Amino acid sequence: MRAKESASAKAKGSQDEYDMSPPDAALLRVLYEKVKIPKGKANYEVRNTRQRASCVKCKFNLGDERKCHVVRGKVNNEKGISKFFSPKGDGMLPGDVVWLYVKGSGKKLKYREGHVIKKGAPGFRCEDCKYYLYHGKCLLIEGKFKPKMSCGYIVKIGQGIEV
Ligand code: SF4
Repeated sequence: MRAKESASAKAKGSQDEYDMSPPDAALLRVLYEKVKIPKGKANYEVRNTRQRASCVKCKFNLGDERKCHVVRGKVNNEKGISKFFSPKGDGMLPGDVVWLYVKGSGKKLKYREGHVIKKGAPGFRCEDCKYYLYHGKCLLIEGKFKPKMSCGYIVKIGQGIEV
């Protein structure tokens, strides 16, 4: 990567594990250890005041499932927040952190770890994802996938780190 490209990549957030933000490093640890962080250790709290930052605005949030890629248990989308809160667009994309895990461990995520759904929203499906291989395989998750499926780690083609 040339210096100019590297500078522009940096401006968009951390590009590898050596300059990861603490929340991105926490996700990588969770992937390796297969245990999410308990709410107490994550300083998770439910606030009753109106706020701009809450789980639903965080890149680790699985809105429909009320789950988080990093913190254990159900979260409150509108009022919950933890010390790992990362606004969408901040640091690495969660799917790119999974790719670091796959490269480092030599293992894909198990199907059940991927939060796979049978039909994703238009534009956010396997067919739109840079980790999709055309014969129905995925670089991140074990199993077979159809173009209309999706998962909790989709990264749209052209976004995030270079693979
Ligand atoms: S959207 Fe599909 S291809 Fe992309 S990471 Fe998820 S399961 Fe894999």
